[in-house]
Amino acid sequence: MPVSLIPSSGRRSFLKTATLAASASAVGIASSREEPWFALLADTHVDADRKKEARGAVMAENVMRVVAEILEEAKTNGDPQFAVINGDCAYLKGLRGDYETLRPLLQPLLDSGIPIHLTMGNHDDRGPFYELFPEAETPKSEATIEKHLAIVESESANWFLVDTLQIVDNVTGEIGAKQRDWLARELDRRSGKPAIIVGHHYPQYMPEDSDARVTGITDTVEFMDLLRSKPWVKAYVYGHSHNYGFKKASGDIHLINQPPVAYLFDEKRPNGWLKAAVSATGMNITLRALDKSHPENDETKNLTWT
Ligand SMILES: [Zn+2]
Repeated sequence: MPVSLIPSSGRRSFLKTATLAASASAVGIASSREEPWFALLADTHVDADRKKEARGAVMAENVMRVVAEILEEAKTNGDPQFAVINGDCAYLKGLRGDYETLRPLLQPLLDSGIPIHLTMGNHDDRGPFYELFPEAETPKSEATIEKHLAIVESESANWFLVDTLQIVDNVTGEIGAKQRDWLARELDRRSGKPAIIVGHHYPQYMPEDSDARVTGITDTVEFMDLLRSKPWVKAYVYGHSHNYGFKKASGDIHLINQPPVAYLFDEKRPNGWLKAAVSATGMNITLRALDKSHPENDETKNLTWT
């Protein structure tokens, strides 16, 4: 897998042409003077209809508000190194019309030279997604697995964007043996720096005799065993539950459950986005809730790599 390094002097112009610099190619990020930070978004659930409302949220409007907040934040703290929408970018079925509506909502970030990565959730569909985001497509020569993957190398950590979409509009997620092999190999090639894994579904350990429906990652045991076997893996960032929070998995891996940009299933929980400042020793995560009166708004959680 090639590594495309972006020269610092050409960063802006490169990002303007590469825009959504995803795909299975690794993308290098030039160092900057400001504290490096990343905008973490999940579950935008944008419908073809910009006015579509679900559970009291107008999804396109929420995306516009978050994009405006990121650009506002950039004025004081410098541009984020990238923004990521961690799955369920589309409303329910990953329709072409959904991505058609989503793309221009993200344009202000691209116009500012901020790269955007999108991962696949259970409400996405790679085919229509690639039609509207062709630059994100895994190059045919490298597409040994039908997953949408990206690696982003940054100053203090490497980011591995995985694909947990199993079947469109079916709740269960899956990494799969081929993707686990790919991830193991790529992690081994970058063992010198902390690794942060980003994927839509949450890990879910099922009791052996359970026949309940799996709503998280169906191969959680194999996936988490893999992450634990690489001690430089420090965090797994996911969405899917629409329920913001933090946990720690055995092996000292931080589990970061992002808030949704779209609607909530529990209205007491916040929606919005996360500002993640990453250093060589940890990550400070600040919640930017859409409801500025939410008690957790602007709170920072300090995670330390052990
Ligand atoms: Zn969702």
